[in-house]
Amino acid sequence: RGALVCVGSGIRSIGQVTLEAKNHIAAADKVYCLCSDPMSEEWVRKLNPTAETLYTLYGDGKNRIETYRQMTQAMVDAVHAGQRVCGVFYGHPGVFATPTHNAIRILRAEGYEATMQPGVSAEDNLYADLGIDPAKHGCQMYEATHLLTTGRTLDPTATVIIWQISCVGELGFNLSGYTGEHVPALVEYLEKTYGPDHEVTVYEAAVFPGQKCRMDAMPLHELGTARLTGVSTLYVPPKHKPKPDQDMIQRLKLRETFTT
Ligand code: SAH
Repeated sequence: RGALVCVGSGIRSIGQVTLEAKNHIAAADKVYCLCSDPMSEEWVRKLNPTAETLYTLYGDGKNRIETYRQMTQAMVDAVHAGQRVCGVFYGHPGVFATPTHNAIRILRAEGYEATMQPGVSAEDNLYADLGIDPAKHGCQMYEATHLLTTGRTLDPTATVIIWQISCVGELGFNLSGYTGEHVPALVEYLEKTYGPDHEVTVYEAAVFPGQKCRMDAMPLHELGTARLTGVSTLYVPPKHKPKPDQDMIQRLKLRETFTT
């Protein structure tokens, strides 16, 4: 009977694959792969020659939602055909990744075994490279277009991480990169909470061994003209300290607020 397991290939090529991911890749009847770099993909193919890339489903100008639907369908079809399928997605397979969650939901509803194994995401790399503990100030994370279109209130006392900043407001896919035409709208939005001079960092984890990560700090108003790529993530540190709740501190018989 067919089954699906979705695993991550990590961000840094090959080095961040978990042992359980490796075992699942090797044991599968069919592997579908959406790795972000050719070295990882080559490694997956050596481990399991059935590996087929899902990358070709992207198309210039094609709506990404349609692409995700087709990726989901490819995995679901193979399971229906009785295969034990392994989907390999870069980073963590369930972090800002639609096809994995959708395929698992569909297959579980049909009674198939469908699971996900965690992987090392961009977020994990960010904590390590920028030296941030998300528990210290609390942490809010949003996908850039989602943030703008749902008008969330950002908490200036918490850490904020914003994903997919280069393609904010763009639903298509472009092999040669996104236009970044709506990045100024994102900057304007953030300025409402932080003002134009708050320092933010454009972060890109290293993908290849020996490569250094990118961490470019700049005042918020410069973000509109900064060079952004498909792998840029924005780190926004807190602007103020939170106000201690004295009543609660007394009730808990503590002397001050708790931070890790
Ligand atoms: N599943 C992936 C995320 C895919 S969504 C994961 O677990 O990390 C794509 C977004 O992830 C990008 O727009 C960017 O915000 C972030 N991202 C991907 N690769 C990255 C890298 N090398 N460095 C920093 N952020 C990255």
